This record gives sequence, structure tokens and C-alpha cells, in this order.
Amino acid sequence: MKIKDFTIKEAHEGLKNGEFTSVELTQAYLEEIEKKDKEIKAFITVNKDLALEQAKRADEMIKNGKMTLLTGIPCALKDNVLLKGIKCTAGSKFLENYIATYNASVVKKLEEQGAVFLGKTNLDEFAMGSSCEKSAFFPTKNPNDLERVPGGSSGGSAASVSANMCVYAIGTDTGGSIRQPASFCGVVGLKPTYGSVSRNGIIAFASSLDQVGPLTKNTEDAQIVFEAIKGVDKMDSTTIDYTEEDIDLKNIKIGVPKEYFTTGLDKEIEDSVKSAIEKYKKLGAEIVNISLPHSEYALACYYIIAPAEASSNLARFDGLRYGENTDGSIKNRTEFFGKEVKKRIMLGTYTLSSGYYDAYYKKALKVRTLIKNDFEEAFKKVDVVLGPTSPCLPFKIGEKMDDPMAMYLADIYTVSVNLAGLPAVSLPIANNIGLHLIGSSFKEKKLLKIASLIENKI
Ligand code: GLN
Repeated sequence: MKIKDFTIKEAHEGLKNGEFTSVELTQAYLEEIEKKDKEIKAFITVNKDLALEQAKRADEMIKNGKMTLLTGIPCALKDNVLLKGIKCTAGSKFLENYIATYNASVVKKLEEQGAVFLGKTNLDEFAMGSSCEKSAFFPTKNPNDLERVPGGSSGGSAASVSANMCVYAIGTDTGGSIRQPASFCGVVGLKPTYGSVSRNGIIAFASSLDQVGPLTKNTEDAQIVFEAIKGVDKMDSTTIDYTEEDIDLKNIKIGVPKEYFTTGLDKEIEDSVKSAIEKYKKLGAEIVNISLPHSEYALACYYIIAPAEASSNLARFDGLRYGENTDGSIKNRTEFFGKEVKKRIMLGTYTLSSGYYDAYYKKALKVRTLIKNDFEEAFKKVDVVLGPTSPCLPFKIGEKMDDPMAMYLADIYTVSVNLAGLPAVSLPIANNIGLHLIGSSFKEKKLLKIASLIENKI
């Protein structure tokens, strides 16, 4: 069979109507990976045997009338999500040969629905980066322009969806890692509310910021995957259950913060975002000028809090538990961690050390509260906050490798969302340009519905 630009719904219809089986669909995607991934390099591991086994099981489920929307649909997992029996590297030499001993809770939930996992996708080491170039193995290329980066850290997941090497993918977002690559690759990326999706079985980066979410072809698919993976999990005490009531799409109010349209924003992106605003106006939405006065501190605050938590989370890689020479020597950390990871561990250890804790870490926590309060104020007036996902277009591979500040600035619009724990989506509005819509907590459905109003209409 020939792969089309399948959405989940379309692939589901095909399976339901018996146009193809899950085994056929899976085989077709595996062939597509074989054909395209030599160049794009989105996958670190392709688990062909497991995928075909799962596809067979899915075909049984379909035959027995136990089908859900995700049954038999091939997807990809970022390589920091544990899939039992399969290598899980987190893009690091430290875990180059690490085989996952259990399934992440997200994987369990998807597996119960009969999902097919094609493989594990490339990422910046331990999800630290914005370009996928900081993977210890190889950089992934942007399928829309092979000289450019796909964004990061979930660059492999975004590229695999964009290049039709899977129907949807799972990513993680600590400061923008689902939304920024989604924007660079022209797909939809949803970062759910903190606590809505279990982090059990995800290799932790910064626990108070990390969230798991889908990268999909459209907003409808994002909603389907989100529904499947959300919910309370006894293995992650931060998770909660909730259902959203039906949404009234009349009288929508969209907040546009003045702080999001200042210097540093690419002109082409600004124009696209402005035309999206016009689209919403034409549909009858009310555009409200708002202010998020503390957003200028978001990046600085994130780069204190995220490294602090990372330095603690990565202490488990002590040379005893993981890596090749498990003799406990510090040499392991020197040898197996990449430069970016070492930098963040040192930064985090520094800001948490006595004498500096109050000046940096504690102050950053206070600023975090101010950022959160800004959003709370905004959501008293509006339903969603609108802006660009990224200030820049996909850059050339290598272009920002020696300029960490330029690389960090790629997340200027996304990090505040993680600091505030809110849901946000990146929606493609032009070639490699994403519109960033931020919702209030636990309102993903409303957020995606509002995004869908202008989907493919620009
Ligand atoms: N690019 C940001 C960083 O380097 C965010 C990464 C992420 O969301 N995992 O930390």
C-alpha cells in the first residue's frame, strides 16, 4: 500500500472499513522510514519486530470489535519515553546501550488502545536544546529543508510526523520542546497542563516543568491523543483527573500581549501572526490587548530553575547505575555527558549551593510566581493568549551551535508556559511558522477548538 498524508481519523477509517490492515499500514510506514530516514535521521531506533507484533494484535482487536481511534495506528516515541525491552538513550552516550525495563505510563495507556510503536526518535541530550543538534548521536534534519534544523528537543518526533514516517508522535516539553519543533516542521504540537499527563517512565529533565504531549497532523488528532494519554496515575502524584464541559465558541476573547511583539521577532513571523489575528477578527472573536509584564524575566527564570532541577535529576547518572564502566568514577560523567548537559549541571549545582540559593534559586521561584500571576490576571479577561511560537524561522544546521544565547532565545515565547504550568499549542499558519495559543489550566479542549477555527484557513 501507499502511504498518504494520513491523519489519525483517516487511518482509523481505513482500518475500520477494511481498506487495509494494521500490519499493512505498519509495513508501509516502516518502508517509508527505510526510504526517507537515511537522510532525515529522525529515528534513533526502529523496532520493526515489536511494531509488527503490535500491529497483529491490533488487527485482532479490530476483528473482535475492540477498536478505539488509536487501535492499529503507527506512532513514534521520543527517545526519553521508556518502551519495555527497547533501547532508550535520551540522546545521551550515558544511555547508549540502556534497555528500558518497564513501560512509561503513557506507553501503557496507548498500548491498551492498541497503538503501534514504530520506533524512538532523536532528541537533544536529556531534552536540553532547541535544535536536535545536541543529540550525542547525530543531528536530525528538517524534512522541509534538509539544510535546516527541525527544532528541539523533540526534533525527531516533529520531523517524523512532518515527513509522514508515522501518523503521530509523542514528545516532551520542559520549556518548548514540543511546540518549537512543531512550529519548525509545520505540524501541531500540544503541551498539556502540568499534571494532566503522567511523567512516570519519562527520563526526567526538570520535574516541575516537564510534560508529555502529542505532535500531530492537526488539532483533532492532538485532542484524540491527549484524551488517550491524560488522567490520574498512581505512579505520578502530580497527576489529576478532569473533564472539560462543552465549549461555547461564541464570544471568544483572544488576548494579545504587547510584550510578544517587540524587537527580536522575525518580520515574516510577525506578519503571519498578525494575519492570524485578522482571521480571528473576521470570525467574530474579540481581540483584547493585554500585558504580561513579567514575561521579560521568563527566560532568565527558566535557566535558573530548569538547570537546578536537572542537576538533581541527573545525579542518578553517577557512574554506578548507568554507563559502560560502572566503577563509580567521576570519569564516567566526564566522558558520557555532553557539553550542554555538563554546563547545566554546573549551573544548577551553583544556584542551589548555600550562599547562592537565596540570590538565584529562591529569587527565580518568586519570579515564577509573578509570571504565573500575570497569566491568571490575563485569563480573567480572555479565553486564550495568542503570539508566535518561535521568534525565528528554522535556522541552518550548525548556525547557532557556538552561540548559546541565540539558541536559548528560540524559547523566549514558550518557557513562561511551563513556568506557569499552562497548556499551549503550536498551530502551523505558514511555512515553518507556528501560532502559539496559550490556554488556562485544564482547558485543552477549548484551546484546541479555538486553534481549529483558523486551521488550514490561512
Ligand atoms: N530548549 C529548552 C531547553 O533547552 C527547552 C527544552 C525542553 O522543553 N525540553 O531547555
